[in-house]
Order: sequence, then structure tokens, then C-alpha cells
Amino acid sequence: MNTKEYMDLGEQELLHAYNRFPIVFEKGEGVSLYDLNGKQYLDFASGIGVMGLGYHHPAYSEALKAQIDKLTHTSNLFYNMPSVDAAKKLCDKTGFDRVFFTNSGAEAIEGALKLARKYSYLKYGKERYEIIAMNHSFHGRTMGAVAVTGNAHYREPFEPLIGGVRFAEFNDLDSVKALVNEKTCAILFEPVQGEGGIYPAEAAFMEGVRKLCDENDIVMICDEIQCGMGRTGKLFAYMHYGVQPDIITAAKALGCGVPVGAFLSNEKVGSAMVPGDHGTTYGGNPFVGAAVNAVLDIFDKEQILEHVNETAVYLETKLEELTAQFSCIAARRGKGFMQGLVLTVPVRQVIGACLERGLIVISAGTDVLRLLPPLVITRQDIDAMTAVLREVLKTF
Ligand SMILES: *Cc1c(COP(=O)(O)O)cnc(C)c1O
Repeated sequence: MNTKEYMDLGEQELLHAYNRFPIVFEKGEGVSLYDLNGKQYLDFASGIGVMGLGYHHPAYSEALKAQIDKLTHTSNLFYNMPSVDAAKKLCDKTGFDRVFFTNSGAEAIEGALKLARKYSYLKYGKERYEIIAMNHSFHGRTMGAVAVTGNAHYREPFEPLIGGVRFAEFNDLDSVKALVNEKTCAILFEPVQGEGGIYPAEAAFMEGVRKLCDENDIVMICDEIQCGMGRTGKLFAYMHYGVQPDIITAAKALGCGVPVGAFLSNEKVGSAMVPGDHGTTYGGNPFVGAAVNAVLDIFDKEQILEHVNETAVYLETKLEELTAQFSCIAARRGKGFMQGLVLTVPVRQVIGACLERGLIVISAGTDVLRLLPPLVITRQDIDAMTAVLREVLKTF
């Protein structure tokens, strides 16, 4: 079948939950994707921040192939080596004590909310259940995750959602303080808001929330699903701030292409969960465990974080140049390889024009062009990206 036939069949058979771009990808190599017609695309979206190591990374592919030939699933009624190893590595690298593997980001959020509620329930009883989340946040599409997502458009059609959620303004500590009361169980936010438009947390906000949580024994949850796993130059974005949350969630680049998420917690909060409280059939199976191990090993061996930190300076410089050159770029925001350009022209049209010229970029919020390249991009890739963007923006 050709591209048109796949698109038509897709529109006929798949639930119409997306407005897809008219491309069918067939394979990937390095930081490039190739469509059915063999056209090459430079990827500055990495499957929404998932393909941190790019496509077809040799050591990663080998590790997955080896695990497929050994064992892919056993259930969580037993131990398996890859997920125990992966949990140990994650704890060693973060200072957290407990890991629960999930199949997606939304499920990691669900688990984190359940854990916070259980902690609060055991210690303070069932009246202490409120969760403070942020406006313009994004935490996923399941009922619990939607309930804490600060975007009415995503929530309203599905109400009633879980109760006891209140929304504060991100980076406005006073707005959070104003919502804290004797019922507050947890405060949840993204250290860098992704979907909401690439807004990094200010240091004072991060520190202030930690202090507020300490003073009131509130569970501090950071959603690292998009900004974690090296994207901002640290393994997790909270590490920029010298503040340790009680729980973090991870997914997207955690498995660099296989569906795996996790929530990590300290012992104080994590010990609230006991057998029977939570579970998953697939979560943390040997196959995805092998992927997480491979990713973390490759991060170390190939000094991925160092590469991001070095190369992100160049990326930011180039984006600042574009911002200075084009009046249709109102601002640049971001950290590391998580960057946004605020546009005054229609973002979807810009994305379409980039795709025609073989560059993949995505949007965030209504007016932000979002860049989430694989962590392995080079300066040449950045030059190629800026050349296309320059050409495209000239036409607007
Ligand atoms: C993508 C994302 C999620 C949801 O992850 P899924 O794997 O799509 O369920 C949650 N939080 C943030 C910050 C995300 O970027």
C-alpha cells in the first residue's frame, strides 16, 4: 500500500483521536526518520521526547534483541533480573528508595497519586486527600491524570473526575500557599511544563514548594515524564534545583522507545504502599527492564548528559539568533534540549512547512513551537534545523 492508502485506511479504522500529519514513517536511523517514499526527515521531536538515543542505536537494539530471545514477560508475581537491576540504577542515580514500573506516563501519575493518598490516609485519615496541581499542566489522559491536568478543555467532557483537586498558578508560590489547608495531601507539578508551553520552574518556586511540603507534611510530586531522562542536561530536571521531591514520575525517554514509565519515591512515602494496594500485569517486565538498563548504561558510557549540556548552549545560541532575526518569534523558553519558540504566526502551518522541507518539529499549547530533539543531536544537526526554520519563517 502507498502513503495515501495507509492514510485512508488509518482514517477508516483508527479512532479519530488525532489530526495526523500526512506522513507514514517506515524506519529510522540516528536522528533521521524515513517515510514510505524514502524521504528523509531530521527529527527534532523524537516521538514527543521518547527517542532520546535516536533511532536504531546499536547497543540499545542489541540489548533488546538479546532480551527478546531470553524472556519478555513473567508478571509481577515473580522477580525478574532486568527490572531489579534497572530499579537499583535509578535509585543510585537519584537518591530515591523505591521504584514502581508502569506502562505509560499517565499510569505513573496514577500510581504517584495513589501513593500520596495512601501515605496521607495512613497518617492522617481519610479527610486529608486534596491534591494541588498547576494551571497549564499536563499529566496524561487517564481519568486520574486528566483530573490533575490544568486545562479545562481536556477535563470537562469527562467529568466527574477524581475529586479533591485544586489548581494553583505555576511559578506563583503564593497561589499554592493560598490553597494549602488541613486537607492537603500532595502538590504536583512539572519542573519544566511541557505541553503547557515549555515553562521552566523558577528556583524560588521549587524551593518554596519543598519548604511548604516540609512544614505541612505534604507529599511533593514532580512529573518528570517529559523533562526527565537527560532532556534538560541532568538525569531529572529537579536536580537543577538542589531540592529533592518525595515522588517523581518518569516515562517517555525512560525506555527510549519501549512503553515503560515509573514512579520513584523516598522510603517515608513509599512505605505506605503494601501488597494489594497497587499493581500492573505488564509493568516492569523483563523486556522493558532491559530497555531501561540499556538506556541508563548508554547514558553513562556515552556521556549523554555531558553532551546535552555542551550542545544545548549551541542550540540556545542559535535559537536566540532566530528570535532576534524574526519578529514572528515573540520569545524563546526552555532548558537544555527542551525548547520552545513562542510564535505570533499559526504554529501548525509552520510545522507543516517544516515537514515539507524534511524537518520534524511539534507544538506545545496554542502558540509554541516545541523542540525535543534526540539527546544525541550534533551541532551540524542544529545548523540543519535552523537553516530550515529560517527558510520557513521567512515565508510568514
Ligand atoms: C506525556 C506526558 C504525560 C503522559 O504520558 P503518557 O505516556 O502519554 O501517558 C504525563 N506528564 C507529562 C509531563 C507528559 O509530558
